Amino acid sequence: MFDVPPPADFSPTLDEARTLLERVWGHADFRGLQASVIQEVLAGRDVLAVLPTGGGKSVCYQVPAILRPGVGLVVSPLIALMTDQVEALKQQGVAAARLDSGLTMDERSAVWRAARSGELDLLYVSPEGLASGAMLERLAELPISLIAIDEAHCVSQWGHDFRPDYRTLGRLAEIFPRVPRIAVTATADARTRDDILASLKLGEARVFVDSFARPNLQLTAERKVNGSRARTDARVVELVRERRGRSGVVYCGSRDGCERVADALRDAGTNAIAYHAGFDARERDRRLERFLAEDGAVMVATIAFGMGVDKPDVRFVIHADPPGSLEAYWQEIGRAGRDGEPAEGVTLYGPSDIAWSLRRLDGRPMAEEVKQVQTRKVRQLFAMLDGATCRPQAVRRYFGEQDAQPCGVCDVCGDPPATFDALVPAQKALAAVQRLGERFGRTRVIDHLMGRTKDVQPWEAGLSTWGVGADLSLIGWRDVIDHLMFEGLLVEDPNEGKPLIRLGDPQAVRAVYRGEREVRVKEPPTRAVALDKPRRNAGRNLAVEGLDADVRARFEALRAWRRDRAVEQRVPP
Ligand code: ADP
Ligand code: MG
Ligand code: ZN
Repeated sequence: MFDVPPPADFSPTLDEARTLLERVWGHADFRGLQASVIQEVLAGRDVLAVLPTGGGKSVCYQVPAILRPGVGLVVSPLIALMTDQVEALKQQGVAAARLDSGLTMDERSAVWRAARSGELDLLYVSPEGLASGAMLERLAELPISLIAIDEAHCVSQWGHDFRPDYRTLGRLAEIFPRVPRIAVTATADARTRDDILASLKLGEARVFVDSFARPNLQLTAERKVNGSRARTDARVVELVRERRGRSGVVYCGSRDGCERVADALRDAGTNAIAYHAGFDARERDRRLERFLAEDGAVMVATIAFGMGVDKPDVRFVIHADPPGSLEAYWQEIGRAGRDGEPAEGVTLYGPSDIAWSLRRLDGRPMAEEVKQVQTRKVRQLFAMLDGATCRPQAVRRYFGEQDAQPCGVCDVCGDPPATFDALVPAQKALAAVQRLGERFGRTRVIDHLMGRTKDVQPWEAGLSTWGVGADLSLIGWRDVIDHLMFEGLLVEDPNEGKPLIRLGDPQAVRAVYRGEREVRVKEPPTRAVALDKPRRNAGRNLAVEGLDADVRARFEALRAWRRDRAVEQRVPP
């Protein structure tokens, strides 16, 4: 219709973008930082947008790609992600296509033809594809309107999903110097952000970071009663049964675990679907479709499941095994409640889990510096899980939101655990581990501290740490030692099934010996409070007092929701 090309300085307005959002997606308005991000991209400038999972990052590049003349190039890490988005866009009447290894030669030619003729609005490509010079050459001939890099944290070794192919995406800056580029991710820590900017050569980009608050999520972390699989599986079954009829995700650390938990859930009458990378792509798709379509379906999955899955009414995410970092934690629990309605995240964790996470890092080929950062991330995650700080507040502070307030609804806010000053017991425990030559497991160390080792030998009874811990109970010592492991002051060495305890980070250990580092341990041991059990602090919530009225109102609403649900659960099966 218009033969005359738009003037060079043509940039569509935000109003036009809003109209498009309404027509194509049916959303009444932009939310959060979307409008600011889109305005920037429409004006042809580079952007890094860090928005929470479910925050609507896709439209931040899809809308400008459609409005700006030319084809928008989208780099996306997973074929499944690309396929989903492309199919959804096509159904909404947007000309979108993808170029990935799954296409036949004919299909590829057709896509290139459409791209060259200017018919396409959006073209999705994989980072592997872009790493090939041939594809870049062909792309350089197209009228590119913008370049979007989705899940941009994959470029960073500090992120939790590093993809070497993302490293090469910095070249796009040189090949397309005049094309605006937008990187989007939900990973927020400052270091990853800086790495994304540097690696993608986004030096001039404006950075938008949205708040990571997820006010509709009610979070709980629960120490595993003991490390046994059977006990953990039984607890997961119990947690899911309490949420009968709701759709949820259960994350497991291994494929075996996944199958086992899914079986246990099915035996208990839940519509559980196992999902992991051991199934081929077609089978995974089939399982995903079932999860999306069937009422009350529970996906029991490894981390192979999730990135980009858009099911708005997931009501709970349960970690049968803890995630690998706080970023991963936030992303995974963020898959619950994307519709904004109340939802829950329950994370089970134990001392053997931290040992497992650290061991897994050891087995990976990576630079020493990277390993150190990843190790610290594992520790930070467990310190949060076993800590006594409001969960979202702890995570948001970690993400740099220093002014984050207590959420008012997590397990810690709902029932602040009493803690005790465990500096002296910690010093005793560390000294005992050291004197014993780091050769024993937890039980033996505790027996030594309490002076109750069976058949104690003179060498041991002669140590200055023998029996110094008689003032604390067995359970108390278990808690202290587990907590020292969560804090990285002690580490468990698996020692082929006969775990030993060794001293952890020497600097931290020294700080405890000198009394420069606080050690606080929860008392009694963490165990989620049963929903209908009266709360110790019922009626008087310390974490909520002094909060803004609207925060308090939300808290009350969530409490009411929990109460209703507790009533629902009391209906006999
Ligand atoms: P993510 O940031 O995790 O990539 P998505 O782009 O997948 O999130 O969007 C999550 C969901 O939010 C989608 O269903 C999307 O249609 C919806 N959404 C995005 N923007 C808006 C908006 N302005 N209003 C309402 N819903 C929106
Ligand atoms: Mg996304
Ligand atoms: Zn809280």
